[in-house]
Amino acid sequence: MTSDPALPARLRWAALTEDALAARLRTLARWLRADPQRANLLITLQGDLGAGKTTFVRHLLRALGVTGRIKSPTFALVEPYELTLGAHTLPAWHADLYRFDDPREWTEAGLAELFAGPGLKLVEWPERAGVALGRPDVAVRLAAGADDERRDIELHALSPLGLAVLDALRHDDA
Ligand code: ATP
Ligand code: MG
Repeated sequence: MTSDPALPARLRWAALTEDALAARLRTLARWLRADPQRANLLITLQGDLGAGKTTFVRHLLRALGVTGRIKSPTFALVEPYELTLGAHTLPAWHADLYRFDDPREWTEAGLAELFAGPGLKLVEWPERAGVALGRPDVAVRLAAGADDERRDIELHALSPLGLAVLDALRHDDA
């Protein structure tokens, strides 16, 4: 990993508009494309209803070349995608665990098996899976911002790959 371990494991974006968020996620997508191995990432997204978790995922998947509809997986639990990163293809999974009643559903719904394989995994409401989900590379927290169009977003790195992600994004931290 090229990341300097001394770098802070947290990145804060205050009062970010959706357009500014999309621009930052395009920066992340460029960095992931440069080495498709980097896209084997678990990213969790926490925040209240309407905080912008699905919006974050949509902009990231779009920036990674997903062209079809990107639905919120609130009812389907998980939506599958296929990423084409140069000569490589990689699965992506967008899960929303809001409707989980019991962390045991993680295994019962087949998500444990799915998430054990390679791919980009993006999970809303990760707290509903308890410890079954495992430690994410990046934990994103979204909260209401200065007005309806802005969000305060914090990214926490919890692995070496997560630190490298934050490092890549920090260069775009205007
Ligand atoms: P849920 O917990 O219900 O799944 P969510 O956190 O996934 O909610 P979204 O479905 O992404 O929330 O809804 C966020 C809404 O806020 C979208 O309509 C989005 O366009 C809007 N929005 C406005 N400003 C921003 C911003 N700066 N960042 C993200 N979303 C924003
Ligand atoms: Mg959502």
